[in-house]
Amino acid sequence: MDLGLTGRTYLVTGASSGVGLATAELLLGEGANVIACARDGVRLAQALEPLPRATGARVVAESCDVLDAEAVAGFVARAGADLGGLDGVVNNAGRSLMASVADTTAEQWREEFDLKIFAVLNTVRAAEPYLRRSRAGAVVNVNAILARQPEPRLAATSAARAALLNLTRTLAADLAPVRVNSVCLGLIDTGQWRRRFEAVGALSYEEWSAEVAADRGVALGRLGRAEEVAYPIVALLSPRASYITGSSIDVGGGVARYV
Ligand code: NDP
Repeated sequence: MDLGLTGRTYLVTGASSGVGLATAELLLGEGANVIACARDGVRLAQALEPLPRATGARVVAESCDVLDAEAVAGFVARAGADLGGLDGVVNNAGRSLMASVADTTAEQWREEFDLKIFAVLNTVRAAEPYLRRSRAGAVVNVNAILARQPEPRLAATSAARAALLNLTRTLAADLAPVRVNSVCLGLIDTGQWRRRFEAVGALSYEEWSAEVAADRGVALGRLGRAEEVAYPIVALLSPRASYITGSSIDVGGGVARYV
């Protein structure tokens, strides 16, 4: 099925690794142009350079911190002008903070909300004029199952994720006919988990990640792969999903306990 992405342009934040990189790769393969950012511009360029792309698909990549509203506005304006518009945004840049309520400082609480809420508002505000001009404007917020199923060891991240899920509904109403949806991730095998494994430094990565999946009750018994998240993100961006807005898709291998 043709997803109708050829020649369209999508902004992917945090595109230098994991879910963002897999999403950029899929979009380029579908013939879409990609506007990509991450803080480390060198790593970003190195990650994007080898990606296969369909004929005509272009990449504009720049170092940009999504927390810096002015920098985001400038970057989006430059890239949008360069590529002749913008049809969608994937708010993916981020990380989690492994800490309980007792171990989280006030500053860390603010940083989590900055990254999960204000960073999303920064890109959406910058992109809104372009998205409204597109006939297929779409935003996908990369979120976590933690939004509905908080974990005490990820206290601030869980609360900030819940706030983002709520905000996504408001944005869906505010920005319509631009569509705004979420993908809520479980445990996905990316840089985040590799860093945690290196910090623990015990078994092989395969044994350790299988133990993590069992400990968290992942029905499919393994961590997810970045491309397994990229497919639903790209499906939600596609004009084929033209009547889906304000929705969220769990991509967690069955880790969610709610109905
Ligand atoms: P990775 O660590 O692999 O990639 C994170 C990306 O975000 C990198 O490109 C990083 O580049 C970029 N980034 C981080 N902070 C900023 C910033 N302030 N401004 C711009 N870019 C930034 O993470 P994942 O692919 O695993 O995660 C993607 C998203 O999914 C994140 O929002 C994460 O919280 C969420 N998620 C992931 C889960 C998982 O199990 N992997 C579970 C639930 C949610 P750089 O450091 O150079 O800026």
